[in-house]
Amino acid sequence: MGEEEAAAARRAILSGWVTQGPEVAAFEREFAASVGARHACAVSSCTAALHVALLAVGIAPGDEVVTVSHSFIATANAVRYAGAHPVFIDIEPETLNMDPRLVAAALSSRTRAILCVHQLGMPCDVGVLAAIARGRGVPLIEDAACAAGSQIRASGGWEPIGRPHGDIACFSFHPRKLLSTGDGGMLTTKDAELDARFRLLRHHGMSVPDTVRHASTTVVTESYPSLGFNYRMSDIQAAVGREQLKRLPAIVAKRRELAGRYTEALRHVPGVTTPREPEWARTNWQSYVVRLRDGLDQTRVMQQMLDEGIATRRGVMNAHREPAYPEGTWRTTSEGLEHSEEAQDATIVLPLYHELTCQDQDRVIESLSRACGGSGIA
Ligand SMILES: *Cc1c(COP(=O)(O)O)cnc(C)c1O
Repeated sequence: MGEEEAAAARRAILSGWVTQGPEVAAFEREFAASVGARHACAVSSCTAALHVALLAVGIAPGDEVVTVSHSFIATANAVRYAGAHPVFIDIEPETLNMDPRLVAAALSSRTRAILCVHQLGMPCDVGVLAAIARGRGVPLIEDAACAAGSQIRASGGWEPIGRPHGDIACFSFHPRKLLSTGDGGMLTTKDAELDARFRLLRHHGMSVPDTVRHASTTVVTESYPSLGFNYRMSDIQAAVGREQLKRLPAIVAKRRELAGRYTEALRHVPGVTTPREPEWARTNWQSYVVRLRDGLDQTRVMQQMLDEGIATRRGVMNAHREPAYPEGTWRTTSEGLEHSEEAQDATIVLPLYHELTCQDQDRVIESLSRACGGSGIA
């Protein structure tokens, strides 16, 4: 973030609106246009967006939602906020995304939704998943927390994630993601009725938004037709988001260039497998995750790199391995979650940010190569 974001926050503060108002409405219009969505509804986080999405499609206690364990814990948590049980299916090792071939075995008479994740920005196979969901008559919700700026090939051309290709897509604007409002989230959909439900749920279930009441020349009395939440985004955050949205294409382009450099250089490093981008996907490379060969200890490699001044992160977590997920709160299929667990234990996230210089990137490549037992000359 820079001067533009600071000036935008100042503008919102001095406008007198501060909370959800015209900046939020403008950010929603601009975000919707950028992903080609008919409707976009801003909320306080992607976790809130996922909760709202699940409630809007009618998820209720006792229902099952087919999803992945191999994700940030908020994905599975949102299912439980709605009183439902996550049914975890395994991932494809190369993309870290839900394996569509495993969905059929996870469906039961209690399945009410499929919640897929575009993990770390890498598009999952939403075309195939949407067809499965349609065949089953359940909605497909996309956890697109990391996927602002990612694209997928659909109906012959490249389309941004978020159109959406399922029924609802949920984005995060946490600082960890490419586009940030400090904290924040967005729901996109083609369905006007769903969008109306999002707007009720995010604002205490209140029938009249503040903007409408403020603009009215007659006295307006609101009602509360459903149980809602305070999941609003503030105008200060939205003003910052509008500036961030302008930067997104350049940030994605730079990351794709740097990721390409990693992939090219790391091809020659034994013991390291680079991530695969399917030919129908263009990831924003929110994170660049490599897999270490069997026998290479993840923590040892990370420590050796840290000793050389290079910070890495372990791969994506698995919700089902956490104490917050005791038996009875979730189930899986007979295929189990072997690839999910392997990915957590054998992958590391390399430094990648749009200001990364080629020189620093070469240091990372050399350090990783040394830590994996190579000469360090990639
Ligand atoms: C970051 C993230 C979330 C949570 O986003 P917040 O905006 O922090 O609530 C949910 N799902 C995935 C896959 C994420 O990476």
